[in-house]
Amino acid sequence: MKNYYLNTPIFKSNLLKKQYGLNVSYKMECFQPSGSFKIRGMDAFLKQLSYQGVTRVVASSGGNAGFSLAYIGKQMGISVKLIVPKTTCKYMIDKIELLEVDLEIHGENWNEANDYAIQISKELDLPYVPPFDHQLLWKGISSIIDECALSIKEPDRIIVSVGGGSLLCGVFEGLIRNNWRETKIVTAETKGAASFAKSYQAGKLITLDEINTIATSLGAKKVTAKALEYALKYKVETYVTDDKSAFNACRYFFNEYHTLVEPACGAALSYVINKHEEIDSKENVLVIVCGGVNMGIEKFLEYSETYNN
Ligand SMILES: *Cc1c(COP(=O)(O)O)cnc(C)c1O
Repeated sequence: MKNYYLNTPIFKSNLLKKQYGLNVSYKMECFQPSGSFKIRGMDAFLKQLSYQGVTRVVASSGGNAGFSLAYIGKQMGISVKLIVPKTTCKYMIDKIELLEVDLEIHGENWNEANDYAIQISKELDLPYVPPFDHQLLWKGISSIIDECALSIKEPDRIIVSVGGGSLLCGVFEGLIRNNWRETKIVTAETKGAASFAKSYQAGKLITLDEINTIATSLGAKKVTAKALEYALKYKVETYVTDDKSAFNACRYFFNEYHTLVEPACGAALSYVINKHEEIDSKENVLVIVCGGVNMGIEKFLEYSETYNN
């Protein structure tokens, strides 16, 4: 079966070169048809189900996982029942509904929506599609690094946003498969969603009491165990920034490449700006521009007011 995700381009940042003398490349996952890397995992997951003859699935995300699943489902002719929590904004609901999903709003937060989705999948005897915690998703996402390996040499650093940790697991898998052993991995989060950095420092999984950030796509209270396991084995640098920096990095990126991305992606983008003094001018830095569609022009303008500097 064909791939429904795209091979995304790698762009050099002339702006970071000029401003800070840095060699930064952007892997443009924001250019996927569903606006984020999540499409790769969903493509792999639904292909597998499609081979088994599945025609309907249940899932629980009102974010990019749900949107990417809806997109892939429509392409493959698999119908999607999507449970989203009450916290899901109208902008995302409208976007998801464009893809003809059977959408139901249930639960005060993602955990409640997810419990309900799992219950429904059992009742209706339909496969449940997880948003981040599954090896098939990580395998699909790891194709990001395979693509990079076809056109660039091993980077010195790679910057990866972490929410539930599927992107990080996929990146680790890809780096290992392509024998990119020297690349230093930097994980990026915002303060209000730093479940990975906290867990890494503690050396064990930590569950956050609450999520408090505009980088909503990073809002997993607990990361997948595999992400922590990889990180403890191969070591990473954890980077935690604030909402203002994450947003302003989105603005900076927009001014170079005219593309809106979510603050979840801005967290990774902000690393090179905030840490430019720690990066050698000879280093090749690769930022995974994970993207995200939950950032319309209205939200951008609103944040632009709030975080004006
Ligand atoms: C899902 C997502 C993340 C975090 O990815 P995880 O695999 O959950 O760690 C970051 N940025 C965007 C735009 C996302 O959609």
